[in-house]
Amino acid sequence: MPKYIIVALLYFFVTPLLLLFLFHTHWLMSVFIIFIIYSIGGLIFYIVYPQIDFSKNTILRGPKNKNWVMLTFDDGPSQDTPQLLDLLRKHKVPATFFLLGEKILRYPSIAQAIVHDGHSIGNHTFSHEKLTFKNKRFVHETISQTQKIIQNNLGIDAQCIRAPHGFKNVWLYEILNEKKLKLVSWTKSAFDTEKNVTSENIKKRIVKNIKNGDIILLHDGRGMNNNPGFMSMIHALPEIIIQLKKMNFEFVTLTDIVHEIY
Ligand SMILES: [Zn+2]
Repeated sequence: MPKYIIVALLYFFVTPLLLLFLFHTHWLMSVFIIFIIYSIGGLIFYIVYPQIDFSKNTILRGPKNKNWVMLTFDDGPSQDTPQLLDLLRKHKVPATFFLLGEKILRYPSIAQAIVHDGHSIGNHTFSHEKLTFKNKRFVHETISQTQKIIQNNLGIDAQCIRAPHGFKNVWLYEILNEKKLKLVSWTKSAFDTEKNVTSENIKKRIVKNIKNGDIILLHDGRGMNNNPGFMSMIHALPEIIIQLKKMNFEFVTLTDIVHEIY
């Protein structure tokens, strides 16, 4: 069972019960407290967990009836992208890169190399600021600006975005509808930016219980915080690819999945 379901069950059932038993409140007050707890909890879970979504414009996973898996790399392009591209080329595996506008401006030729190698591109906002508490104008601007940068530098109309950290915002869907963009989530995270992550951790987190249509979240580059997990990810990736190919999975991109679903 996914961790977020366990956390949600604990929150929605245990918190009200605890409160009621601890404080012996009047039934009317109890109904009110439970209503507040559920509303706040619902909103937090919805914003924080990328896997919880009800919009038809959100891609939570790929089709379950195909042996497809999708590798996604967020936060690039970076100085380390060429190393990643070499590896993907060597193993003949296509992937999807969610790019940051400001990084495309910093490394335009590296971003072009990603497109040249046939990988899919998505919008990951301009500067990776969490959208949760930002106003409508900010969210609109960070998405539009990055769409334009992708168009101008790579000649592509990105069809999808991934919110930084997967955190949503109340204005997000209105803006995505207006721009005809889809929001992309993930089903498997390797937590490859963790401080002491090993390549064995990363491999296990991805390969264990992998299913048709899984969308795998990884990160491109050492980033602003000098992501200590990047080299572990680079070491783990060939083994992951070989293992998944042995299990008969086919690697596809966001473009394939959008085409299949819509
Ligand atoms: Zn990111």
